[in-house]
Amino acid sequence: MDAGLDLDTFEMVLTTVRDFGEHELPDADLIELDTKDEFPEPLIRRMLSELGVSLLFIPEEYGGMGAGTFDIYRVCEELARIDVGIATGVFATFLGSDPILFGATEEQKAHWMSLIAEEGILMAYGATEPEAGSDLGAMRTTATPILDGDEVTGYSITGAKQWISNGTYADLYTILANTPGGPSWFIVDRDVDGFEKGKPEDKHGIRASNTAALALQDVEVGVDRLVGDVEGQGLMQAQAVFGYTRLMVAAFGLGAGWAALDRAIPYSVERIQGGGPLSTKQGYTHKLLVTHAVRLEAARAYIEETAVRIDAGEELLNTEGAIAKLMGSEAGNDAADASIQALGGYGYTKEYMVEKVKRDVRITTIYEGTSEIMEMTIARDRWQEHLKSGGAYYHDAASALSALAATHPDVGADTAALALHALAEVMEVARVHRLTRNQHLLFRLGELVTHVECAGALARRAAAFADGSQPEKADTRFDAAQLAAVSRVFAREAASRVAGDGIRLVLTAADPGAIDVNGLETAAGVKAINEAQAGGIHDMDLVRDALYRDFEGGQTE
Ligand SMILES: Cc1cc2nc3c(=O)[nH]c(=O)nc-3n(C[C@H](O)[C@H](O)[C@H](O)COP(=O)(O)OP(=O)(O)OC[C@H]3O[C@@H](n4cnc5c(N)ncnc54)[C@H](O)[C@@H]3O)c2cc1C
Repeated sequence: MDAGLDLDTFEMVLTTVRDFGEHELPDADLIELDTKDEFPEPLIRRMLSELGVSLLFIPEEYGGMGAGTFDIYRVCEELARIDVGIATGVFATFLGSDPILFGATEEQKAHWMSLIAEEGILMAYGATEPEAGSDLGAMRTTATPILDGDEVTGYSITGAKQWISNGTYADLYTILANTPGGPSWFIVDRDVDGFEKGKPEDKHGIRASNTAALALQDVEVGVDRLVGDVEGQGLMQAQAVFGYTRLMVAAFGLGAGWAALDRAIPYSVERIQGGGPLSTKQGYTHKLLVTHAVRLEAARAYIEETAVRIDAGEELLNTEGAIAKLMGSEAGNDAADASIQALGGYGYTKEYMVEKVKRDVRITTIYEGTSEIMEMTIARDRWQEHLKSGGAYYHDAASALSALAATHPDVGADTAALALHALAEVMEVARVHRLTRNQHLLFRLGELVTHVECAGALARRAAAFADGSQPEKADTRFDAAQLAAVSRVFAREAASRVAGDGIRLVLTAADPGAIDVNGLETAAGVKAINEAQAGGIHDMDLVRDALYRDFEGGQTE
């Protein structure tokens, strides 16, 4: 991988972030910030400037470090391991500068990105409005041209923004507003006349982050503040970075999910119930830890694969960003919830942190596009692929995985291939019977696509680890053999989801008797998928052993 930081710098950055978290944000401080609902502004500013986190996402030509997507994903995961609220405060600055980085003229970029690099300023990204969340097209904020004769000399912005991270404290804002030429981004200073910040929201979680509404009344900006110099590019500029930004929120899910599991794992070694440590009880470990670890690693595989593609120069990848976000955020959320359960009554108290992690990670299924919007984005795109390819899209992907299984029989690629093949059959039945007119079916297909594509990515990742050809910056919690077991467990889950939920889904949408159930089950390979479940618990035992490899845990009961 040639994009981004060199390996030494990358490792130094990760270590620095980790050390900063350990020294500056111990549990007691995090609990206090959460309880007091306090945004640690000086600390966030130190992270951006002193620690140089701002420099990461700024290209070298503007004085930054030019970190790649892979680098930033690993940093985002690390930040979220500390606290998703803190990570949000940092990330909002990344997000705020994105319209400039991806949409501005060269001159604008040189000015603003250099300024951000030099001063480590705090930014905010103002897209959402009270009436326009998932549907940004419903936005009402306007930017009216200020004219001098025929010449546009500036814009007057009026409107309201909602749920803006860093909204109270940012030095600089990017604001999306409707111009006569369409939605456009504007760069707005904090202290301009007519710009008011609402009181901080009292939130369920990420209470160490600041979220506020913004009110703009005839806020005047110069014409040089129109990002990209051309009106009407705003939604395109916003969408141009979704592949990237959603990957980062996926990494938040990953970091928080693992942070929770990494509290449950040692707890279960110490906690004696039923005559032995909980870590030795399969009914506990496999339900509450192994299942979630495996799903998190499925998300990681997809995040890493997409990050490599973005760093290699592929553009957009919005669907891939959506798949990563849906998997990473939902898996993180479920892992944190399971960790509360794993700590029993202690998990339900503030002191043990997992209940805070759970409240914090919850936001990742909402911001940067909700899970349902991800499902819609994914399903629509992959449905088009299914139609364009005459139904071959997932059969072809299945063939590629079968080929991988021939050289790497242990990485779950054969079962992932069964899942892809079954998905193609389910989608085809949905096409023949015109079932995607049901939004529920379409969205659930988006979820199935996500699991099945992540199973493929995980099998490829396990094979790369077996060959030693994984990216040099890849996370190495699991070695090749452990990762192969992780992949086999997840591939079984993905395949059985399609065979169960997928078939049930098309049946629920069709008229009674319209679908030949036996025919569909045969075409989808349900028998083979069921046969592939054999050995599943043994593989979960292997994953369990990998989770406890650093502990004296005893054997699984
Ligand atoms: C803490 C926090 C920080 C945030 N930070 C920022 C920020 O910095 N900048 C910014 O611009 N925004 C920010 N947001 C806004 C965030 O991106 C939006 O909240 C999110 O996109 C959802 O929009 P909404 O809240 O209006 O919900 P809605 O769009 O009203 O959605 C409500 C529910 O309906 C579902 N839904 C919506 N549309 C459809 C549909 N077509 N079909 C089926 N179901 C649908 C959604 O999935 C959701 O479950 C933040 C939000 C929060 C809570």
